[in-house]
Amino acid sequence: MIIDLRSDTVTKPTKGMLEAMMTAQVGDDVYKEDPSVNALEQRLAKLFGKDQALFFPTGSMANQTALKLHTNPGEQVICDKYAHIYNYEGGGASFNSGISCKLIDGHRGMFSAEQVEASINPPDFYHSPLTSLVEVENTTNKGGGACWDFEELKRIRKVCDTHGLGYHLDGARLWNALVNTKETAKDYGQLFDTISVCLSKGLGCPIGSVLIGDHDLMQGAVRVRKILGGGMRQVGYLAAAGLYALDHHMDRLSVDHKKAKEIGHVLENLSIIRKVEPIETNIIIFELEPHVDESEFLKQLSDHDIHIIGMGSNKLRMVTHLDYTDDMHNKLLEILNDF
Ligand SMILES: *Cc1c(COP(=O)(O)O)cnc(C)c1O
Repeated sequence: MIIDLRSDTVTKPTKGMLEAMMTAQVGDDVYKEDPSVNALEQRLAKLFGKDQALFFPTGSMANQTALKLHTNPGEQVICDKYAHIYNYEGGGASFNSGISCKLIDGHRGMFSAEQVEASINPPDFYHSPLTSLVEVENTTNKGGGACWDFEELKRIRKVCDTHGLGYHLDGARLWNALVNTKETAKDYGQLFDTISVCLSKGLGCPIGSVLIGDHDLMQGAVRVRKILGGGMRQVGYLAAAGLYALDHHMDRLSVDHKKAKEIGHVLENLSIIRKVEPIETNIIIFELEPHVDESEFLKQLSDHDIHIIGMGSNKLRMVTHLDYTDDMHNKLLEILNDF
């Protein structure tokens, strides 16, 4: 039994999902003729109360497309120092859109409307890049699965309106936030200009992300996706996995959250662990005591067929997911308790 908690992306399609994929109706999606892709896009647009949605192979491509739609070369996006678009998309913001990031020194990947306000370059001060976009992530990845306070997101929207800035949500794990808070997808749709969501994380699809927005912005999205090489053909086989996941894998995310909290409780009581960050969803970030060697700790775990990820500076990450079974959970807690 291999326990892989490196990420919620390691899941494999369930039997039901595979069946849905195998029996999917497909067509050429570059001609917009794939009924399964069209159904997924329409369903997600409606769920968020937006005009349009577009299927992408990856969340990175969906985010990169959003950055392109909101900005011109030379401009600047405001985001947190932990942001995925800044840290983990291969420098795509500069490569694809020719923009720079103004980083906010936030808390667990989140920041305040005042911090946004203070990060905007005055538009007539032509020495500085023109600020055109604010980007937030919910839940925050590097911030340990933290969920934003919706009121703060609303206050940031006001700042965007005052200064004529676009507002993009990287909602790779928005589903995890939605099962945890009282807000709905429509609430998020009302607040943001564009939203990206992943199907390939907690929802357990092998691949797939979707960008959602209103017509004025989204009309350019198909072209940007094509330029990035993301125009796909009979991709309904993958969209069918997404439709299946929306029906069957949404509510169970709370199970992942419960297991993450239980792991956190055990970690908190271990003498070799200095600190466990608050656990809100399915991500657990913890720090070893300075005298504990990270690679030695990782090796001891992998000797038990347990795989987690080191994040540098003695911090480690575990992510619970669909393929992390009750048996694995019990075994992990037992082994951790012995440390
Ligand atoms: C995973 C993730 C993405 C997209 O990643 P891909 O591997 O390109 O699908 C985007 N944002 C966040 C916060 C993520 O965790």
